[in-house]
Amino acid sequence: MNQETAAANLKTDAPLHRLHNFCAGPASLPTEVLLKAQAEMLDWQGRGVSIMEMSHRSSDYIKVAEAAESSLRRLMQIPDNYKVLFLQGGATLQFSAIPLNLLANETNNGKADYLTTGAWSGKAVKEAKRYADLGLGQVNEVATSKASGFTTVPEQSEWQLTEGAEYFHYCANETIHGVQIFQPPEVDAPLIADMSSCILSEPIDVSKFGMIYAGAQKNIGPAGLVIVIIREDLIGKASAWCPALLDYANQAAKESMLNTPATYSWYLAGLVFEWLEQRGGLEVIAKTNRQKAELLYKTIDESDFYSNKVDVNYRSIMNVPFTLKDSSLDGQFLAEAEQAGLLNLKGHRDVGGMRASIYNAVSLESVQALCDFMNEFASKHA
Ligand SMILES: *Cc1c(COP(=O)(O)O)cnc(C)c1O
Repeated sequence: MNQETAAANLKTDAPLHRLHNFCAGPASLPTEVLLKAQAEMLDWQGRGVSIMEMSHRSSDYIKVAEAAESSLRRLMQIPDNYKVLFLQGGATLQFSAIPLNLLANETNNGKADYLTTGAWSGKAVKEAKRYADLGLGQVNEVATSKASGFTTVPEQSEWQLTEGAEYFHYCANETIHGVQIFQPPEVDAPLIADMSSCILSEPIDVSKFGMIYAGAQKNIGPAGLVIVIIREDLIGKASAWCPALLDYANQAAKESMLNTPATYSWYLAGLVFEWLEQRGGLEVIAKTNRQKAELLYKTIDESDFYSNKVDVNYRSIMNVPFTLKDSSLDGQFLAEAEQAGLLNLKGHRDVGGMRASIYNAVSLESVQALCDFMNEFASKHA
């Protein structure tokens, strides 16, 4: 394609074709953000190259990276004694990085506590136990809600906490089971929270945490990036067997550029943070998120056609699994939903049924459209 045809193609007046996307991840992104990225895709701010084609060490790119971090710091009110790292390997690689940095090293055979409330916290403890099984530290599962089918959170009075634990790990929002822990647990050990699917959905007090981490592809930006927010005193404890790239001290010292970072995802995350700031920040987005969740749970609860089995105190405001009274209608529900422009509602294979992920970029209008469809479908099949 020559340059003129390419330019002509860009200037299309075709209306935007954007459907209601309830995908759990990679998830919906704000249309405004994608339009901005599109507008500067070929020629970033008059430089004649895209942001993807720039050195991560160029002053232009470093400004983009720093602006993204500053914006995130403002949004979450991250205290100065925390580092913000923009890393790769997803949240899943953090399941390994955490024990490699904090569980045990040459001089300390430490202990760590893990709370299991669903699939993701279950994977985290399993990964940490691989090291404990080799004699590198001790890993204690303080409690699990497995017996309930991961529909609730074990009472804190039943947790078997370890004295002197290096950290306490939990998942603030179980994306698959739709279970959210809204208040940070009060324990002595530094709290480490997997916030992959709830980060930026509401204001939180970062100072209550030792470390927060989140894969980007739910509420931050495209896949390929994981954000780690870590208190400085937890940096610099990595074991000698920790890969250099996973050592938080190395990454902090090099501003997350020990090797080439996920430059495009980082840039796009910055645009999403800017979008959130322009909308008024996390208080404002949280209000809409609550409205969205209330509307959807109300639709489920007021029908005898749909149900959600999660303990009402822990129902996620981001991921809403639900089942139909008659599961033989599942296929028809999904097909008709898709025809109505409502995409990616199939539940995770571990849970079955349906799941609507209603992250920040999913509008109240999209949730309303889903609820209208659900009511109509239910009345047809009552
Ligand atoms: C998606 C998700 C993960 C895994 O993220 P990857 O980036 O695929 O590694 C971990 N924890 C939670 C809570 C998630 O939602």
